[in-house]
Amino acid sequence: MIIAEKLKFSIAGTESAAKQAYDFFAWPADCDTIRGVTCRFSIDYWIKQYVRGDLILRLYTIENGEKSSQIAVEKAGRLYCLRDLGLQFENMNALICHADLSVMQQLNCFVNAATDAGIHSVLPEETRILAPIEYPLQDVLCVGLNYTEHIEETKQVEDFSRKEATVFFSKRVSRALGMHAEIPDYDFVDSLDYEVELGVILGKSIKDYKAGRDPDPVFGYTVINDLSARNVQFRHKQWYRGKSLDGYTSMGPCIVTVDEAGDVQNLEISCSVNGQLRQHSNTRMMMSGVQALLEEVSQGMTLKAGTVMATGTPGGVALGMAAPQYLRPGDTVACRIERIGTLVNRVQAKCKP
Ligand code: MG
Repeated sequence: MIIAEKLKFSIAGTESAAKQAYDFFAWPADCDTIRGVTCRFSIDYWIKQYVRGDLILRLYTIENGEKSSQIAVEKAGRLYCLRDLGLQFENMNALICHADLSVMQQLNCFVNAATDAGIHSVLPEETRILAPIEYPLQDVLCVGLNYTEHIEETKQVEDFSRKEATVFFSKRVSRALGMHAEIPDYDFVDSLDYEVELGVILGKSIKDYKAGRDPDPVFGYTVINDLSARNVQFRHKQWYRGKSLDGYTSMGPCIVTVDEAGDVQNLEISCSVNGQLRQHSNTRMMMSGVQALLEEVSQGMTLKAGTVMATGTPGGVALGMAAPQYLRPGDTVACRIERIGTLVNRVQAKCKP
């Protein structure tokens, strides 16, 4: 009943909605304990929240002076931990895979109420922001060469200008880096490159998906830096190992749900290194948009809920430069996508002998 006391839920006239929420989250059945709590929200408030059904959520995985990570929601520049709202999810994967529409609607409702009630919250700068999905359930599904500029700039390495089908591959992500986490500097890597990409997270499993016919399976979007060791990539004649070294996937700073992202095929996307703009495009420049990619890759192939897909990078990577400016120890790389946020990481400085 802590949640009721904290939020000072109104019982008068709102019992039905409150009971529904209690039942849903399997809170203790003795709702009597919330009787008498100060009336704060009217029935109109609850109905408005329920009927409106907004799913505008910005979800974070954070560490806030505790050993275990927890999920938080951002509202008005502050973070509200789901645990403090009485909502328990083991991690973001559990939330994504088990939270259906009604859970998300109610979650949104409680966060709105928490904001209004001014319950405990933290500022983002007071906490450590981890990757929203630190441990992806499977390898991250990647799309190669999905922006014309990137195909043009890498032609001298391999010419994909006449490709007839989308290039799909994957990368291993044992643990994704979050905001401000350091990118490892390996002795055997001499050409570390950055790739800002729109990350797509599936909330439902799909197979033989048809865009427009089937319900949209996307849970939300994030920013991904598909870090790549070019020398390793070329030595092994494929991309898997050069993109799968520990610490070579950075993700975040949050997941925005589909409504918050708006038109996902019209978002500014950019990457800068030490403040110098290197990549700058718009997701409308993708050769295959998110829905077309999901349709193509899911034919005869199951994509499970929780799948993370990186949708390709625009032009401007170091590999495409006449004199490549690869990332060096101490460099700061900032990947930004409109309406989602900016993901900042620094390359680990080499230890001085
Ligand atoms: Mg990539």
